[in-house]
Amino acid sequence: MRIGQGYDIHRLEPGNKGVYLGGVLIECPWHIVAHSDGDVLIHALCDALLGAAGLGDIGEHFPDTDAVNAGRDSKEFLAYIYRLIKQQGYVIINTDITLLTQVPRLSPYKSAIKEKLAEILNIDSTQINIKATTMEGLDAIGQKQGIACQAIVLINKE
Ligand code: MG
Repeated sequence: MRIGQGYDIHRLEPGNKGVYLGGVLIECPWHIVAHSDGDVLIHALCDALLGAAGLGDIGEHFPDTDAVNAGRDSKEFLAYIYRLIKQQGYVIINTDITLLTQVPRLSPYKSAIKEKLAEILNIDSTQINIKATTMEGLDAIGQKQGIACQAIVLINKE
């Protein structure tokens, strides 16, 4: 068995585009500033999967200097990385994801996010756990200037 962890952070700004988290659009008066769609949850999960398989990081596979990745749907990154680890003979045991953010509230969207990720990763939604914590108003995330995510994943050879 192998373990991997991932972390990502993006800037948050007031706006009306909403925020993509775990491939689900959360309608709220905020948007994420990023080269891709800025889905921090998926980016952290991608890095955790790549880390577990010893395959580098998301920036090596999808450089933010590449115009092809501009505004790109992060679900495509996750689907690609899932195929990579599958090619190496790995299956996903479970993943545990923690979102660090003051806004938006994640609780109404947790099950939709789990379903979306389970579909992409070809696992059961019970193998995915999603947690969220505020920063109690502390630091840039607490001041609603950013949103971050940590993910950990366990994989095994089939
Ligand atoms: Mg990112």
